[in-house]
Amino acid sequence: MTTLDKKKTALLSDSLRLMCTDFDGTIADGEGRPISTEFFERLVAWRRRGKVYWIINTGRTWDSLHEELLRRKAPIWPDWVVAMEREVWLVRDRRGVGWFEWNRKCEVLHSQLFDAVKPLWKLIDDYIARHTDANLVEDAGSPVGIIASSEEEADEISAYITPLLQNWPNLVAVRNSIYFRFSHKNYHKGSCLEAVANGLGVLPQQIMAVGDHLNDLPMMEKKYAWHLACPGNAVDEVKAKVRAGGGYVATATIAEGVVEAWDKFFPLKKDEGNAA
Ligand SMILES: [Mg+2]
Repeated sequence: MTTLDKKKTALLSDSLRLMCTDFDGTIADGEGRPISTEFFERLVAWRRRGKVYWIINTGRTWDSLHEELLRRKAPIWPDWVVAMEREVWLVRDRRGVGWFEWNRKCEVLHSQLFDAVKPLWKLIDDYIARHTDANLVEDAGSPVGIIASSEEEADEISAYITPLLQNWPNLVAVRNSIYFRFSHKNYHKGSCLEAVANGLGVLPQQIMAVGDHLNDLPMMEKKYAWHLACPGNAVDEVKAKVRAGGGYVATATIAEGVVEAWDKFFPLKKDEGNAA
């Protein structure tokens, strides 16, 4: 990198243009409480400087996230939502408009892939019934979804599935805590973040990505977001990846942890604080 490139990078890294957060366990707690007002205060303060987009990048469906944002009385809604780790939605006036081109291609590819891997479903079905207390469920966007009875059991299921997937290189198991769904390897939180950022003309140097669980790992890459962070409640794998990427592991949990990381990377000046 030339000196000029380094200067450009330093300049870009100084300006936040896109905040990408996971939802559950990252800005939203498990008890259904409203999201910390401090998070929205930061967003408002940064938007006084210029446009800062906010993406919620979640495993939930759009409908489920919509319901949750209403229930938690979110005072500001995200500009974009990545739902089910693969669909992209533009949000206007609290309504979601699916990015037709992206979502349609995603749907077609998944339907072809899921058809091609039918023998795998039978293997998984048998394994779950015979060796676990887990439940097979219908999952939005995945012909087979699994809910393990514990994190330990989810580890065992993961150990069973991983070698099987070598036979279907385009298929990945997406795990979030005790939940599993299946997906095409090209569609994940990282590739969706990249697609939205490209459309907005935002560079990775201007993006901060925060997540807490295994399904967030694909977006915890410098090629998608230079500023990586996780709240203190994140699982060890996420903490390790954040550290490896030169990111910040917060001490505080959930949204307070996001704010802690936000202030670490992009501190506000004194007269910009408490801006909500
Ligand atoms: Mg999460």
